[in-house]
Amino acid sequence: VHVLDADFFRRWLTAAAVCVDREAGRLTELDSAIGDADHGSNLQRGFAAVTAVLEKEAPQTPGAVLTLAGRQLISTVGGASGPLYGTLLRRTGKALGEDAEVTPGRFAEALRAGVAAVAQLGGAKAGDKTMLDALEPAVAALGDTTASFAAASEAAERGALATVPMQARKGRASYLGERSIGHQDPGATSSALLITTLAEVSS
Ligand code: ADP
Ligand code: MG
Ligand code: MG
Repeated sequence: VHVLDADFFRRWLTAAAVCVDREAGRLTELDSAIGDADHGSNLQRGFAAVTAVLEKEAPQTPGAVLTLAGRQLISTVGGASGPLYGTLLRRTGKALGEDAEVTPGRFAEALRAGVAAVAQLGGAKAGDKTMLDALEPAVAALGDTTASFAAASEAAERGALATVPMQARKGRASYLGERSIGHQDPGATSSALLITTLAEVSS
């Protein structure tokens, strides 16, 4: 793929819903170690709702697909991850404007704006053991071609693994203090799944 249209983003998010379904048990298990054991079910509910609304409303531009999906996540996911992922998609969608097709480079730039909005909303930074530890290296690896999506996926996976020795400084896991060390962050893990799915649908 060299240009990305509404159908590409719809396929990304519906594939992400399938992946979240498949990995929900693992995400919830990670959240049971340092959180409240709901990350898998939160995202399952949210992404199922995203799939349904995209089918029902059939938005026609990349920007509209992402903003609609983001709104849906915010309204259906009760946990911290709902507003955070919702903001990621909404802000990315807004940055894409109303064009019917966007280049990978333009999407990379938009996703960087989305990740910056997540950092602003949650007040977290790299090293705080959150989804940002996967998202920030991923968007740093994104470039002007869809080939860079594979590099972003590897960077996100490495970023998620790198949360294991970190102490959580944001979100529920931060209540555990040093006891949060030694566990992989659930949100960084789900972020890596989302970016890996992006690479898969673009290849
Ligand atoms: P909750 O913690 O409300 O139950 P989830 O379990 O769905 O929500 O999501 C937890 C994940 O959300 C964490 O693993 C972390 O990656 C992410 N998270 C929590 N707080 C923040 C924050 N302030 N900034 C960025 N990500 C965060
Ligand atoms: Mg939780
Ligand atoms: Mg919760």
